[in-house]
Amino acid sequence: MKTYKQLKIRLLTLRGTICERCGYDKYEILQVHHKDKNRQNNNLDNLELICPNCHAEEHYLQNSWTQKIVLEGGPDGKAMVLKTIERKL
Ligand SMILES: [Zn+2]
Ligand SMILES: [Zn+2]
Repeated sequence: MKTYKQLKIRLLTLRGTICERCGYDKYEILQVHHKDKNRQNNNLDNLELICPNCHAEEHYLQNSWTQKIVLEGGPDGKAMVLKTIERKL
């Protein structure tokens, strides 16, 4: 059974010490993400080494209030902002 620490070290060795998504380079705080959300599946294909910011995006963005506004539509005045948000999503 591999520990989280061993997994992280393995990924750092294999893929380098930066976030795989944005290139953030403080490897001390990078996190191991399980693409299929199954923490038991430690297959390398299922693992991604990403920074806390990208990790939070992955897990929480879809539940955020901004996503709800985009889906439900907002006041006209906010159309530009919403388009920007939408692009990032
Ligand atoms: Zn990142
Ligand atoms: Zn994750």
